[in-house]
Formats: sequence, structure tokens, C-alpha cells
Amino acid sequence: PASVLVRGLTYRYPDGRQALRGVDLEIRPGATVALLGPNGAGKSTLLLHLNGLLPGRRGSEEGREFGHGHDLPTFGRSRDAGQASIWIDGLPVDDRHAPEIRRRVGLLFQDPDDQLFSPSVIEDVAFGPLNLGKRKAEARRIALECLGRVDLADAADRPPHHLSFGERKRACLAGVLACEPTVLVLDEPTANLDPRSRRNFIALIRSLPATKLIATHDLEFVLELCDRVALLDEGRIVAEGPPEQVMGDE
Ligand code: ADP
Ligand code: ADP
Repeated sequence: PASVLVRGLTYRYPDGRQALRGVDLEIRPGATVALLGPNGAGKSTLLLHLNGLLPGRRGSEEGREFGHGHDLPTFGRSRDAGQASIWIDGLPVDDRHAPEIRRRVGLLFQDPDDQLFSPSVIEDVAFGPLNLGKRKAEARRIALECLGRVDLADAADRPPHHLSFGERKRACLAGVLACEPTVLVLDEPTANLDPRSRRNFIALIRSLPATKLIATHDLEFVLELCDRVALLDEGRIVAEGPPEQVMGDE
């Protein structure tokens, strides 16, 4: 099956704002797809849906698990979604498959501070594996290994807020990798990185074998890394194809 299959996804925020209007998207296993579109097009809303996180509800149990203070995504099916359906590796994104979907879909937020909430970096990275039922020692071993992969092994015992922005970003990626996702969903991964961190981060992303969906404004990054581009505008996919084709049409 497709790694990611989205059919007719519609989503309206609780305040009535229509963010997605019948989105269709199919991503083949191993592909790297860029999600382009102006601010407000619905990119973040779409990304959150891929692991069943419905944006815009505050303070739920599920949201609290993610530890951040603003509008918290919650797991579940959009009441508003009608026939909307998403499948990951052939599994429907619904309440019943929630744990499995969460394991498979790794989500890297744009702002690392939305994702880091433990007193130390290693606890943050171990959080996912612990949540997946790994024992403490095993979770720690996995966390250290993943910190090594992002070149942060030395920072394991530091508080996340002592790290630079680029380091916090890599710590988040380590936390995502620790759950061994088959699908990586990245929201603006190169935004706010200095040139050197950006290059390193791109190389790191490139080296990961998962299927990737990446919301970005970084066109150089798209041309370098992405097989396909989907262009979102006002909640609709308005173009999809190889980067040269879609970006040439713009
Ligand atoms: P062709 O039939 O010319 O060989 P492809 O095999 O590249 O075409 O693609 C067949 C269909 O699958 C096309 O509609 C294309 O848009 C879509 N497609 C190809 N690659 C991907 C991908 N990585 N993710 C999503 N859709 C894809
Ligand atoms: P993008 O990521 O492409 O900038 P978003 O998915 O953030 O777009 O936003 C899509 C639309 O949904 C915009 O009109 C935005 O104002 C609206 N929106 C985003 N978050 C919320 C929210 N928590 N509550 C209400 N509307 C929202």
C-alpha cells in the first residue's frame, strides 16, 4: 500500500475556520514529498492529521502528553470530516489504530520548544520508547543511540533549554527517530537554522530511510531532496508532481 493515503480530507477548526477542503494525497513508500503553499494554506493542519492529531482543541489528556502549553492537538477522528479518510501503510487513522499510527508516524514540529518538555535531553528522547512500552534501561539505550545519530550524545544529561536552537531541533529529531517511524512528517525543518546547521540537518534528513512529507518554504531544499511536490492553497492540493514541473508552473 501507499505509505500515506489521504482521501477527501476536510477540516474545520472549532472556531469555524475551514482549513482543509477535500485534500487528496498519495505518497509511495520511501518517497520524499514537499508540501508547499503560502502561509495559512493548511500545511500544518494537514501534517497534524497524519498521525491523528486534530489541531485546535485545548488541554485534553492526549494533548498534555505532548507537554506544550498552547493549542493542543488531540487524537481522534474529526467529527467534521465527513467521509475523510487517511491511511498510513494501509492502516486507517482512527481511534482504534491510534497507538500503531503514532508509532509509525513521526512528527517534527517547526518549533522544538513545542516538543521538548523533560528536565534532560535524554529523558525527552526516551519518552517515546517508554510510551511504547519499552523498559527503562532499553529506552535509555535507544535514546543514547538516537542522540548519537544526531551528534548530540554529549548533551544527553543537559536540560533542553540550555541547547542552541539547532541542537534542540536535533534533539527533537532524535526523539522522533527513537520511535522508529516508517513515515516522517516534518514541519519547516530548515527554518531558522544557520547555514551550517541547515546543511547538517538536511544531510541528516536525507540519510533517514523513512517516507517523508515535508512542509517547507525552502525551495533549494526541495530541489535537493524531494521526489515530488504537492502545492496546497486555501485548503486544497492545487498541483502535484515532480519538483521541476510543479515549481515551474508556479
Ligand atoms: P509513469 O506511469 O509515467 O511511470 P509514475 O510511476 O511516476 O508514472 O507515477 C504514476 C502515478 O503515481 C502518477 O499519477 C504519479 O503522480 C503518482 N506518483 C508517482 N510517484 C509518486 C510518489 N512518490 N508519491 C505519490 N504519487 C506518486
Ligand atoms: P499553514 O501551515 O499552511 O500556514 P495552517 O494549517 O496553520 O496553515 O492554517 C490553515 C488555516 O487554519 C488558516 O486559515 C489558519 O488561520 C487556520 N488555523 C490554524 N490554526 C488554527 C487554530 N488553532 N484555530 C483556528 N484556526 C486555525
